[in-house]
Amino acid sequence: MSTTFSVTLPSGATWTPTFVSNLDDQKCIGCGRCFKVCPRGVLELVGLTEDGARVPVDLDDDDEEYEKKVMTIAHQELCIGCTACSKICPKKCYTHAASAL
Ligand code: SF4
Ligand code: SF4
Repeated sequence: MSTTFSVTLPSGATWTPTFVSNLDDQKCIGCGRCFKVCPRGVLELVGLTEDGARVPVDLDDDDEEYEKKVMTIAHQELCIGCTACSKICPKKCYTHAASAL
């Protein structure tokens, strides 16, 4: 049976960190705010095509083969659960979840 990862703080209180688990690309407006505050390189801006495919974005040569830009979770394993992305997102795109041991 799995248990949830949690830590005991110096105060003696238990803290259960939550890690990025989902990003709703239907709500995302590609503003990049979350990317700027993430300290761990978890996130990446990509283009979303009409049929839902994700393609690389070249910021120097934007020929717009996609409908819009959206943020994606590129390296979920690097997340430290600071929740800065979620706090700054104006569209409430993020879902965080506790990690199982
Ligand atoms: S919770 Fe922190 S480390 Fe994880 S993706 Fe968000 S900003 Fe990056
Ligand atoms: S802050 Fe929210 S709306 Fe802006 S790029 Fe990140 S996920 Fe998308």
